[in-house]
Amino acid sequence: MTARLLNGIAIRDQIYAELKQEIADLSAVGIRPGLAAVLAGENAASQIYVRSKIAACEQLGLGSWLHTPSAKVTTEELLALIAELNARDDVDGILVQLPLPPQVDAKRVLEAVDPATDVDGFHPVNLGRLVSGRSGLVACTPAGCMEILRRSGIALEGANAVIVGRSDIVGKPMALLLMHANATVTICHSKTRDLAETVRRADIVVAAIGRAAMVEPGWVRPGSTVIDVGINRITDRAEAERIFANIPAKLAQFREKGSVLVGDVHPDVAKIAGAITPVPGGVGPLTIAMLMSNTVKAARLRRGGAANTPSAAAAKH
Ligand code: NAP
Repeated sequence: MTARLLNGIAIRDQIYAELKQEIADLSAVGIRPGLAAVLAGENAASQIYVRSKIAACEQLGLGSWLHTPSAKVTTEELLALIAELNARDDVDGILVQLPLPPQVDAKRVLEAVDPATDVDGFHPVNLGRLVSGRSGLVACTPAGCMEILRRSGIALEGANAVIVGRSDIVGKPMALLLMHANATVTICHSKTRDLAETVRRADIVVAAIGRAAMVEPGWVRPGSTVIDVGINRITDRAEAERIFANIPAKLAQFREKGSVLVGDVHPDVAKIAGAITPVPGGVGPLTIAMLMSNTVKAARLRRGGAANTPSAAAAKH
C-alpha cells in the first residue's frame, strides 16, 4: 500500500482562490491589506523565506514593505522600527523574521508587535487566546497543518494525535489546535521515553523535530495520517544513499544538485501510512498561505466596520 499524498500546493491554491475573493471585497471598500516584513542581517535562508513571503503578497495584490536593518542592529533600534510600524494604519501585519542577530533581545522585539498585527501569532496575547479557545491570530505552520487535515477530510474528533516536538512556533500551538478539534493529544520531546511505541499508537502523527528522517516506518501504525513539518537539507552522500535507498529519483536529484530535501519522517513511511504530506510540497506552502490569510484577517479585524464584506462574513464561520 502507498499512502495518499496530501498535496500542500493544491491546498494552498484553494486557499489563495478564497483569499482573492476576500481581498477583492476589501478593495471595493477601499482597503488593501498590507504586510511589513523585518529582515535583520544577512541569513541566507531567512532571505529566501522573506522573499517568498513578499512574492506571495504581490501575487495576491496585498501591500508589502521590506525593512532590512543591518546585522549590527540593536534591540532599541528594532523596537523603534516596530513602534513606527505599529503606528501605521496601512500596515495590517508585521512579520519579524527569526532568527534575529544574537545581540538582539528577540522576546522583547516580538512582544513589542501590536497583537492586532501579529500575523505570526507569536505574541503572548495571541498565544493566550489560543490556549483559551478564543479567536485570534494563530501561528502559521500549525494553522497550515490544520488546513491540510481538515481539507483532506481526516477525522479529528476522538482521534489519537501524537505530536513530536514542543516548540513555541510549531509543537505547542499544534497540540492546542488539535485539542480544540477534539483530538486526544500526546506531546513528545527529547526526554520522552518509548517514543517509537508512543508514535505507534497515533491515528495522526505530526513530526516537528528538526531531525532528518527520524520517524521510521516501524514507528507508524498502518493507515495512520502523517504530517511532516520538518525541512532538512541533506548534503552528505552516505546519508542521502541511506535515506533514499528505495527512491532512485531522489538519489538522482542528489547526484545532480549535491543536496536534497527530506522531512523529519523517513520517506519509506509512505509505504505504511494511509496519508502523508510530502517534503517539499506539503506543509511548507501552507505556512506562507496562512501568513497571507492572517494578514487579510488582521485587516478585516483592525479596520472594523468598513471591512465587513460578504466574503469576510463567510470567512468568520
Ligand atoms: P525546534 O524549536 O528545534 O524544536 C524541536 C523539537 O523537537 C523540540 O521540542 C525537541 O525537544 C524535539 N526533539 C529534538 N530531538 C528530539 C528527539 N531525538 N526525540 C524527540 N524529540 C526531539 O524546531 P521547530 O522550530 O519546531 O521546527 C521543527 C522542524 O520543522 C524543523 O525541521 C524546521 O525546519 C521545520 N519547520 C518547518 C516549517 C514549514 O513551513 N514547513 C516551519 C517551521 C519549522 P526538546 O523540547 O526536549 O528539546
